[in-house]
Amino acid sequence: GVKDAQDQMEAAHDWNKVNNSRILVFVRLRPMDKKEKEAGSRCCVRIVNRKDIYLSEFASGNDYLRLKRLRGRHFTFDAAFPDSTTQQEVYSKTTAELVEGVLQGRNGSVFCYGATGAGKTYTMLGTVENPGVMVLAIKDLFTMMRQRSYDGNHAVHLSYLEVYNETVRDLLSPGRPLVLREDKQGIVAAGLTQYRAYSTDEVMSLLQQGNRNRTTEPTRVNETSSRSHAILQVVAEYQVRDSAMSVVIRVGKLSLIDLAGSERALATDQRTLRSIEGANINRSLLALSSCINALVEGKKHIPYRNSKLTQLLKDSLGGTCNTVMIANISPSNLSFGETQNTLHWADRAKQIRTKQACEVSEEQLQVPVLDLDQSKLLLELQKE
Ligand code: ADP
Ligand code: MG
Repeated sequence: GVKDAQDQMEAAHDWNKVNNSRILVFVRLRPMDKKEKEAGSRCCVRIVNRKDIYLSEFASGNDYLRLKRLRGRHFTFDAAFPDSTTQQEVYSKTTAELVEGVLQGRNGSVFCYGATGAGKTYTMLGTVENPGVMVLAIKDLFTMMRQRSYDGNHAVHLSYLEVYNETVRDLLSPGRPLVLREDKQGIVAAGLTQYRAYSTDEVMSLLQQGNRNRTTEPTRVNETSSRSHAILQVVAEYQVRDSAMSVVIRVGKLSLIDLAGSERALATDQRTLRSIEGANINRSLLALSSCINALVEGKKHIPYRNSKLTQLLKDSLGGTCNTVMIANISPSNLSFGETQNTLHWADRAKQIRTKQACEVSEEQLQVPVLDLDQSKLLLELQKE
């Protein structure tokens, strides 16, 4: 009952205090595909101990062990998932804890990064048979809020948007570009659809439809543009009894981001970043790299304003937000360069230190029921 749920929440609270002082970075290797096999490619990636990755462009067999001491060829992450890893395992190990945090009222975000074709959309959205992190996270939110909410009062709202060529579009209600505005809660896309979901079942088809609304290149109308970023924001709110047994509303936001292909924004240091800035590359992805660099270096000024993506994600990167990165890679030696760059970028992201999660005070976590100013969603919840 209520007591059990509270104990569970206390335990999770401790986990958040101890572990979330930095971004967790994971790597997922996808299986070799038909095209790669037909091209006669070899596997150039080896995962050892569930977290070490060795890259060898030419070596085969166990030669990767010799590469251990070579810089740039050996990486260690919070976990590295071999190509046999299921969607559920990826979700459980990367995102389940974040979902727990969201239920405590702490924002969380998950980024998928990697070259086009490396498996970002598969990891995030997945298929009807094998749903990805987006769907599994929402499923978990529903299950846990049903169990824990006082009087069964809970709501899930979804918004799904795209940043393409510095234009923001609503993927749930395609139309004119959205304008970003600054309000009390931060930067918001004016007029963005907040879709209230009632079950997990409807979510997959909704998101698939959203994905079909992503921008395509005129020459490849059936394929999502490699320059399109998709951001799903899930706002979960529910009523719980706090430790003093008064009823409060908890609100948390989970952002799930399927980034544009990384193949044209490979820079991991400021100098390279500047030198390619003039070229026709993805401004939002570059800006994300710049923000990560600034966060790694502990700079006071983080250049969120440089792009639409970073403006939208200002409250989802750094600060007290729990952040997870999943770097997606192909096993084929034909993608060696891209894989190496992806792993370098991920290695850099590992160094970001966020503020300790315990800096969030209890008051910030709990929204009193009677505070009607808090959000529109909250009013809707109370009407029921
Ligand atoms: P991206 O979004 O990074 O461009 P996709 O997610 O579209 O790449 O993946 C490219 C192809 O590989 C798709 O057909 C996808 O279904 C398949 N794929 C990717 N990852 C996996 C995986 N882990 N298991 C099986 N198929 C995968
Ligand atoms: Mg994709």
